[in-house]
Parts: sequence; structure tokens; C-alpha cells
Amino acid sequence: MAKRRISKKEKEDIGVLMKFVGIYCRENHEGEKAPFSFKLLNIQEIEEKEVSLCQDCARLLTYGLTMRMKCPHDPKPMCKKCETQCYHGDYKSKIREVMKFSGMYMVKHGRVDLLYHYFV
Ligand SMILES: [Zn+2]
Repeated sequence: MAKRRISKKEKEDIGVLMKFVGIYCRENHEGEKAPFSFKLLNIQEIEEKEVSLCQDCARLLTYGLTMRMKCPHDPKPMCKKCETQCYHGDYKSKIREVMKFSGMYMVKHGRVDLLYHYFV
């Protein structure tokens, strides 16, 4: 699939997702990590800082970004109010855990600005 242009809103959401999964992985997982890359878009355009993730987190983030780019709603509603519910099963419990953990982490570190629209 060719890389496509994304909207400002998509960029924001994707940036937040990357930050959240990045923090979660950094604080919880040890072991081998690789810089995250995503075939559908140029992530350096969105997040200049490289995000290093373990395999599991890379899979979760890939899923999250794919679903975000496929989101049929414009504007995207809050995930928990959405009827589409793109996260299922393991992905759903995992992304919740990530959001909760990184959400708390950001509150503790004064980054509340990133939070308000982004709870799954
Ligand atoms: Zn991880």
C-alpha cells in the first residue's frame, strides 16, 4: 500500500498513541527493542524522536495506528463512545492498560494537555 497523506487530526492522534505506547514499553518492558517503523506512513513526520519498542508493543502500536488510519468516522469520536469499537479481545485490554499507565505517568509528569481527548 502506498503511503498516504494524513490530516492534522490523524497526526495528533497517531503522535499521542506513539507516545503512550512508548512510555508504557520503556517503563514496563526490558529486553530487546527496536526502533518502531510503520509501513503505511512516514512516522518521522509525526514524531521526530525515535520510539523504541519490544515486539509485543510494536504489534500493539501497529494495530492501533492501522485502526486509527482506517477510522470511518470524521471527526473521530472518543473511542469509548464509538459504535465501531475497533479494539477487540487482547488488543482492547492491552491498549486500556497502556492508556491507564501512560495516562497516570503523564499526569505525574504534568502532561495533562495530551490526555483530555484520548481515553479508550
Ligand atoms: Zn514493550
